[in-house]
Amino acid sequence: MQYILALDQGTTSSRAILFSGAGHIHAVAQREFEQHFPQSGWVEHDPRDIWSSQIAVAGEVIAKARLSTRDIAAIGITNQRETTVAWDRRTGEPIGNAIVWQDRRTAPFCDRLRAEGAADMIREKTGLLLDPYFSGTKLRWMLDHIDGARELAEAGHLAFGTVDTWLVWNLTAGAVHATDPSNASRTLLFNIHTGDWDDELLELIGVPRSVLPEVRASSGDFGQTSGDNLGAPVPIRGIAGDQQAALFGQMALDRGMVKTTYGTGCFMLMNTGTQPVVSSHKLLTTVAWKIGDETTYALEGSIFVGGAVVQWLRDGLGIIKSAPEIERLASKVEDSGGVVFVPAFVGLGAPDWDPAARGIIAGLTRGATASHLARAALEGLAFQVADVLDAMHADAGIDVPQMRVDGGASANNLLMQIQADLLGLPVVRPETIETTALGAAYLAGLAIGFWKDIDTLRLQWQEDRRFDGGLSEKAIKAVRSRWRNAVERAKGWEVSDES
Ligand code: ADP
Repeated sequence: MQYILALDQGTTSSRAILFSGAGHIHAVAQREFEQHFPQSGWVEHDPRDIWSSQIAVAGEVIAKARLSTRDIAAIGITNQRETTVAWDRRTGEPIGNAIVWQDRRTAPFCDRLRAEGAADMIREKTGLLLDPYFSGTKLRWMLDHIDGARELAEAGHLAFGTVDTWLVWNLTAGAVHATDPSNASRTLLFNIHTGDWDDELLELIGVPRSVLPEVRASSGDFGQTSGDNLGAPVPIRGIAGDQQAALFGQMALDRGMVKTTYGTGCFMLMNTGTQPVVSSHKLLTTVAWKIGDETTYALEGSIFVGGAVVQWLRDGLGIIKSAPEIERLASKVEDSGGVVFVPAFVGLGAPDWDPAARGIIAGLTRGATASHLARAALEGLAFQVADVLDAMHADAGIDVPQMRVDGGASANNLLMQIQADLLGLPVVRPETIETTALGAAYLAGLAIGFWKDIDTLRLQWQEDRRFDGGLSEKAIKAVRSRWRNAVERAKGWEVSDES
């Protein structure tokens, strides 16, 4: 029996998961690695930690399952996106720490580009907003601030990569320097319409073409592991950024299908088919995946505080001892008793995009209890998701038949019911909520014929539970308008000292 090995390189840990031909999880191994916060707003990883933890868990999961490398048909990679690595091609040594997606150090450079009027061109070509989140300005920072980086680049010795590219380079012992369009589309350097790096963008951001990886189809050939790594060569046949991989793992393959991952934050993607949709509601347009010659696009909206609000109730407020306890506490009341909780702890993401917003709890009365607060917290999460879904609907003009869900907080049945009620749509949770790793495995398995075709995969996707909405349109309108009132009060709260 053979398996597909998915490497899931996340922000705080590296995981390796073996999937069987039926798409079931056979074994898992995981290791956390160190986070570095050298200054306020800066977040770094040591690229060597990313690599060593990832290759260690790959070996570990094979050993744990009592398999040998021969039992692995192919490897698929999924990764934390936008995190930026640069290394010397001659030695494979990183020139510095990786700058992590959360890092805000390039905000001044983004402001400068905005002042020069570059935002519209960037948006048209890349589908992205001009924000420090993405890789391009992080790479520019390395070229400007790391001793000798610019010279190395000019001499053709510097290689840039997002985490997928860094892993492939190491897995193949430097034989392959490549990425896929789902990762390339997060760099600010990639034109999502032409499917190639864009000279005008490279010029604007100040990045030489010589440092860039080759862009290959997401389900395609990324070489094979060198003998030193797993003992014997294994083909690497799939790559996708984590959110896009989850969309694929959810089998959201048709136009209008949406998946929401309820983790620390909430990440929503809508498949918009073979045409990119330009957002007028501050959503991102991104490549979902490329299979053969066909590129599929998605609209994306990110909510910064999702399950994190539950952590806050546990650690900050202390009204629950564990995250799952919130369900019992919130179930003690029929509704939130008029309490509205806007968890804008770090500003608001899509579709409001207000960095100055801060969290508020509104509508408190003498009758409010911990249960009302807990319920309002779950509702706040669901309201944010509903706002992004509305934006997607307005941008794409596509009717959404249902929403597929995954991530840690999707285990909460009450939250899922509240969500379905607010959307007036079925919310569907699959049996395998490890959709990110599954998506990477699917992309790799398709490329080698481990799975015959996409229709075979569609049959594997199994529903665990479906939640149907039960509220009237009038009731939905009333609660959502109260929510929007509270959001308006949360906006613009943090006034900087200079103003
Ligand atoms: P990440 O990948 O972002 O670390 P996970 O998908 O592991 O996130 O989900 C963890 C998040 O889900 C945490 O923020 C936690 O508070 C929340 N969470 C976990 N279980 C529940 C639950 N039963 N109800 C609500 N939230 C939960």
